[in-house]
Amino acid sequence: MIRSWSIQPPAWIRLIFKDALWRMDKDEKTIFLTFDDGPVQEVTPWVCDELKRRDVKATFFCVGENVTQHPDIYQRVIEDGHKTGNHSFNHLPAWRCSGKEYFRNIEMGMSQIGSKLFRPPHGQLYPWQMSKLKGLFSRVVMWDVLSKDYDKRLSAEEVFQNVKHHVRPGSIIVFHDSVKAWPRLKKALPETLDYLIGQGYSFGLL
Ligand SMILES: [Zn+2]
Repeated sequence: MIRSWSIQPPAWIRLIFKDALWRMDKDEKTIFLTFDDGPVQEVTPWVCDELKRRDVKATFFCVGENVTQHPDIYQRVIEDGHKTGNHSFNHLPAWRCSGKEYFRNIEMGMSQIGSKLFRPPHGQLYPWQMSKLKGLFSRVVMWDVLSKDYDKRLSAEEVFQNVKHHVRPGSIIVFHDSVKAWPRLKKALPETLDYLIGQGYSFGLL
C-alpha cells in the first residue's frame, strides 16, 4: 500500500480502488477543488474569502470534531454555496485502528456532517472497506492532484507548481484548510486560483 502519496496517484492504486472517485469528466475543462481537515478559525474563513472574491465554489471535507468546535464556520461554508463531505470525526487513519473503530468514527462524523460524500483520512483505505462505504455514501472521493500543501519541506511556490504541472480537465485537487498547511496555503492558494482562472478552467462541485 501507499505510505507516501505522489502528487498524481499511480494507475495501479486507482485500479485497486476503482469504485472510488479519482477524476471527473476528462472532456470538460472543469476542475474540482477540495479542502480537507477544517473547519478551523485560523484558515477556513480566509479560504472562503479567497474563493468568494473569485466566485469559485469548492468541496470541504470536514472533520466532525472541528465542526462541533466551529459550527459557525461550518455554517458559513454552506451559506457561501460550497459543498461539504465527511472526513470522519477524529481523522482516524484506517491502518491504525480496527475496522469497527474506523466505521464508528465515520458514523460519528455523519452526525455532524450531513453529506453523502466521504474522503478517507490520509487517503488510507482497505479494499474490503469500499463496499461498506458505498452503502453509507454516494461517493468515496480520492483525488487526481495532491498539492502537498501540508509538506513542511516544500515552499509555497513548489505547492503551486505541483498543481500547475499536474492539473488537467476533470482533476479533483486537494488542499487543506488546516493550521499545518497554512504557511504554504496562504501564498499557494491565491496563486493557484488566479492561474486556473487564467487558464480558462471552471470550478465544479462534487
Ligand atoms: Zn485529512
